Amino acid sequence: MSRHNYMTGADQIDAGEAFAFAWALTSDGWARDVRLTVRDGRITTLETGVQPRPGGSQGFAAIPGVPNLHSHAFQRAMAGQTERRGTGDADFWTWRETMYAFAERLTPEHMLAVAAQAFAEMLEAGFTRVGEFHYLHHAPGGLADTNPAVMAEAVIAAAEETGIALTLLPVFYAHAGFGGAPLSPRQARFGCDGDRYARLHEASAKALTPLPDGVIGLAPHSLRAVTPEELEGLLSLYPAGPVHIHIAEQIGEVEASLAWSGQRPVRWLLDHAPVDERWCLVHATHLDEGEIADLAASGAVAGLCPITEANLGDGVFPAGPFLAAGGRFGVGSDSNVRIDAGEELRLLEYSQRLTRRARNLMAAPGGSTGARLLAGALVGGAQALGAPPPGLAVGAPADFLELDPEHPALAGLAPDFLIDAWIFSAGREAVRRVWRRGRLVVSEGRHVARDRIARRYRAALAELMDGL
Ligand SMILES: [Zn+2]
Repeated sequence: MSRHNYMTGADQIDAGEAFAFAWALTSDGWARDVRLTVRDGRITTLETGVQPRPGGSQGFAAIPGVPNLHSHAFQRAMAGQTERRGTGDADFWTWRETMYAFAERLTPEHMLAVAAQAFAEMLEAGFTRVGEFHYLHHAPGGLADTNPAVMAEAVIAAAEETGIALTLLPVFYAHAGFGGAPLSPRQARFGCDGDRYARLHEASAKALTPLPDGVIGLAPHSLRAVTPEELEGLLSLYPAGPVHIHIAEQIGEVEASLAWSGQRPVRWLLDHAPVDERWCLVHATHLDEGEIADLAASGAVAGLCPITEANLGDGVFPAGPFLAAGGRFGVGSDSNVRIDAGEELRLLEYSQRLTRRARNLMAAPGGSTGARLLAGALVGGAQALGAPPPGLAVGAPADFLELDPEHPALAGLAPDFLIDAWIFSAGREAVRRVWRRGRLVVSEGRHVARDRIARRYRAALAELMDGL
């Protein structure tokens, strides 16, 4: 596997570098004529009201990069292939059959090609850290005992190549349904017993060490895929770092949980696991009033994936009552059918408007909807991914993007309206430049290695589609 490293090496920034912007969205709001200096990937100084140095240029409006708290990178390669209807009903469970058929064919080389494409697109779309909920563990043909992290290494190489920050969430997946049902043959590439998972986790953590700000977490796939004893065992084995779990995405899962335990899945988890700030409950779409209040009070993050949840017909997360109860949230691109940080936030708000027949539901009284959505996703996303507090502030990661002053949707607007215009009108086309750890990774809307990454992705897709 060839590696191209944008993150380390001789040209690493070590002498400090300065960036100047006409506007920057700091923790205290928009500031004018801002100069940042960056050293070792962190913002070391932030001055406002300063003109750029003689001969230096000044960018337009800088905002912090958005964390993408939930991704299955390989599913990027399925986009556009699951929008046809067969003879029966199409739902989440028929989509999953297509995903399984596709996953069976992916080699580690394909994984690198597809994940690099997905990660480059994430950076172009305003995401600067990804939580990769990684369950496609084994190479085709079964268990590769020689290296349990063979597929994880491909994901890590893709992060290294593209420059995106990675929180790797190795998935523990042992059962096909509630009550410890055995895996189906199509799930064999995902499965691990406790010993194998421990080796996979250890090898993944080791492979992650070259990344300057990689984080490793723990991901019990869902309550369908782990028994209560296995969940308890995992939590005692890994007492620190993020814990992510898919939960209550589908009504069918809620019904199966009730049949198994007499409790809804989120209620069961809150009653039987130490859910706190470490946790990210991915989707958590179907909640009753008590679950909303108790999930909010737990300090855990609700991992919302509005584009995928719409694509799969999951349902609408009760964002209004959850926020009113002080709940924390972040957004994720999940199936990667479309990758756009602004659009995830837009659809989150629009789904609320469509069901409640009102406007600006996620805004604080008197405030901007977009600004509230962005602030929530920054804080909640960083918490869920075990990342340092985000924002344009001294000590924060130098992960930021510049909105494009030439984009028509931003024309003539005062800074207070820029976030709303980006989210509700422009979308990813308004992301002009992106820096990660102070290094330019996207220029004029294009990842700096876009051509090479896209070429390799097309070749991988040609192989994957051959004979499907
Ligand atoms: Zn998922």
